[in-house]
Amino acid sequence: MTLPSSRLSRRSMFSAALSLGAATVLPTAAATGAARAATGSRRSDGRDGATAPRITDCAGWGAREASEEVVVLDTRPERIIVHHTASANVTDYSQRRAHALARAIQRFHMDTQGWIDTGQHFTVSRGAFVLEGRHHSLAALEAGDRLVRGAHCVGQNSVAIGIENEGTYTTEEPPAAQFSALADLCAQVCRQYDVPPSEIYGHRDFNSTACPGDRLHAMLPRLRQDVARRLGSAQPVGLPRWPVDLPVDWPADPAAPARSLAEYLPPGLLDPVRAL
Ligand SMILES: [Zn+2]
Repeated sequence: MTLPSSRLSRRSMFSAALSLGAATVLPTAAATGAARAATGSRRSDGRDGATAPRITDCAGWGAREASEEVVVLDTRPERIIVHHTASANVTDYSQRRAHALARAIQRFHMDTQGWIDTGQHFTVSRGAFVLEGRHHSLAALEAGDRLVRGAHCVGQNSVAIGIENEGTYTTEEPPAAQFSALADLCAQVCRQYDVPPSEIYGHRDFNSTACPGDRLHAMLPRLRQDVARRLGSAQPVGLPRWPVDLPVDWPADPAAPARSLAEYLPPGLLDPVRAL
């Protein structure tokens, strides 16, 4: 689940972007123009020719426009951070549900949290559908040389890809298909951005939160190994660098709130699906 680290004023957001020097700000309209010749769900080959997971872009699940320009940084992410949505462990594994989930998260992040767009870069539904979160995230992944500034983990939003997994994984494990889809997505992120599989973390590794739940967090070593295998390595994956010398982006996140924020997704936001 996300934290309101993007609750920056327009001015601070822009000054933060400018202070990074290499940052560029793209107008939201660019997402629907020539830069996005195709919309919907698609695969695209990775840089090494590997088949990428099918990812539904914002237009494909019916996203609203971002309320402000999404910031696109001219840098690659250094790591991946895994979240859970802290929502119900539903048994509706349909694509329709996945799209409704994506719309509900965006509505919550924009209308309740006051953020400019969905906080995370990607979402994996319990039915193993993979969806773009914040606008431009998929195009940035495909390019492999830029990163959309997210809002999913305080102190990491300019350096980490955030992936939300539908469900609550404190006492339950995610469905096998969902975990496999997460591994496919992580492998694609690692492939495109040259992120080592050892650089996959849970939200709680950085902020005071239960996210992504005890069970899913305990599965991260397996996730790193599964990702390494997908990248063609049979070697054991080393431990993350955390907590040693891990760079964070606090200086670029001046309005970041305290770390002690709880996970929060209002009950009933996602149900009934037809109401979304
Ligand atoms: Zn989280």
